[in-house]
Amino acid sequence: MMIRFAILPFLVALNFSMCTKHPSPVTSSEPVTSSPSTAGGSPAPGVAGAAPSPKITKSVVDQTAQTIIFCYHRLVDKVRYPGTEITPADFEAQMKQLKDAGITVISLQDLLAWKRGEKNIPPRCAVISFDDGWKSQYDVAWPIMKKFGYPFTMFIYTEGVRGGSLGGGEAITWEQLADMRDNGIDIEAHTATHQDLREGHNIMLAAPGGKKTRTKLTGPAYEQWVHNEVVGCKELLEQRLGIKVNCFAVPFGNYNEHVKELARNAGYEAMFTVYGQPITFTSRLDSLGRYAIEANKPKVFVDAVKMIGTSSGGAAAVAEVGAADLSTQPADGDTVRTALPLIKANLSRVGGIEPGSVQMRVSGLGIVPVSYDPKTGIVSYQVTQKLRGTSCTVIVSAKAEGKKVEAHWTFGIEAAAAAAPVSAAARSTPTPKK
Ligand SMILES: [Zn+2]
Repeated sequence: MMIRFAILPFLVALNFSMCTKHPSPVTSSEPVTSSPSTAGGSPAPGVAGAAPSPKITKSVVDQTAQTIIFCYHRLVDKVRYPGTEITPADFEAQMKQLKDAGITVISLQDLLAWKRGEKNIPPRCAVISFDDGWKSQYDVAWPIMKKFGYPFTMFIYTEGVRGGSLGGGEAITWEQLADMRDNGIDIEAHTATHQDLREGHNIMLAAPGGKKTRTKLTGPAYEQWVHNEVVGCKELLEQRLGIKVNCFAVPFGNYNEHVKELARNAGYEAMFTVYGQPITFTSRLDSLGRYAIEANKPKVFVDAVKMIGTSSGGAAAVAEVGAADLSTQPADGDTVRTALPLIKANLSRVGGIEPGSVQMRVSGLGIVPVSYDPKTGIVSYQVTQKLRGTSCTVIVSAKAEGKKVEAHWTFGIEAAAAAAPVSAAARSTPTPKK
C-alpha cells in the first residue's frame, strides 16, 4: 500500500503533463525519477503507452464531490443596474447561507487541483469569483470575504483597470490588485476589453485618441485583435503583477472552438462561462459554468445551492456529458444561418438511457417536444418558432442507470437570420461605465 500511494502522484503528474503544451511544474519538481524514460523531467515520447488507466486516480480524490461557482460583479448600497449589482447586505447574507448549508468555500485553484486528481475537496463546495475589476470588490467584498475566511478569484479585463481605456473612477487599481495578490487572492484573466470574442461580431474599438468606433473584424485584423484579448490580457496581468494566470473567464460566455484553441495554446488550464451548473469531476475544463448572481434574480443563488444541497451521500448527482461526445448538431460554438435549425444529439455513447426521461431545453423556448429513437440514441427537435437573438443554448438531460446525465452546448445564429436581432448591448450583461 505504501508503495502504491507513493507512486500515484507521480503517475497523475505524468498524465497531466501530457495534456498540456507547457512544461508542468508538477512534473519538473517531482522527486521520483526511478523510471529511465522520465529522466530529465520531461516526459519521453513513448510514455503515452505506459500511461495509467484513469481508474488508478480514483483512489486519490473523491470523484463524487461537486462544486458550484458563483460570479459576482459590483457591490453597491443602492442598486441601479440589477443585472450586475448586489447590495453588501445581500452579498453577506448569501455568504452566510453557504456556511449554514454546510457548503465549503474553496479556492478556484483547489478546484482545479482536484480535477487534476492531485487534491481532495469536501463533498459539497462553492467557489466565489468577482468579475470585471470594480473598486467595490476591493473595498466592500474583500472585507466580507475576510470575515468568513473565504478564498476567492478576481477575473480582470485589463483595459478596465483604472487608467485603462475603459477604467474610470469606479475601477480597481493595479495597486489594489497587487495588495490582493500579496494577500493570497487569485487573479485571473477576463480579456482586454470585455467583448464578444467570436469573429465577425460587433465590437467597439478605441482609437489611440480615445475615439470609439463600432465595427466587425474578420480575417487577420480579427486574429490580431482576438490574440490581444485572449493572450495579451494574460501576459499583461502576469507581467504587471508577477503572477501565473491559468484561468480565463469568457465575457458573456460568447466563444467558440477557435477561441478555445487560442486559450489552450496560450496556456490557460480552464475556461469559464456564465451558464451555471454544478461542476463535477468530469466537467470539461474548457466550459466550466458559473452562476452569475444578480440583484433582481435572487432565485439563481437559491437554486444553485439546492443543486448541490441535495447531493450529499451521492444522491441526485448530475453527470455532465461533454457536448462533443454527443456529436451535437449544430455543434458547440458553431454559427448557423437559420433561426429554424434542426437540433440533434446522439446519446448512444452514454448508455443505459431511460427513453421516457430524455428532455431538451432550448434557451428562449424552454422544454421542447423532442423525438427520441432508442435504437440509434438520437434525440432531435426541429425548431418551429424562429429563435431570437444570435446565440442559443441547448441542455439535453436524461436518466441513465438511475442517474441524471446532462449536456449543455451553445451555438450562434447569424444576425441576419435571427427573428428579432437584439443589439449586443441588450443581449449581454451591460457593463456600466466605471
Ligand atoms: Zn465580465
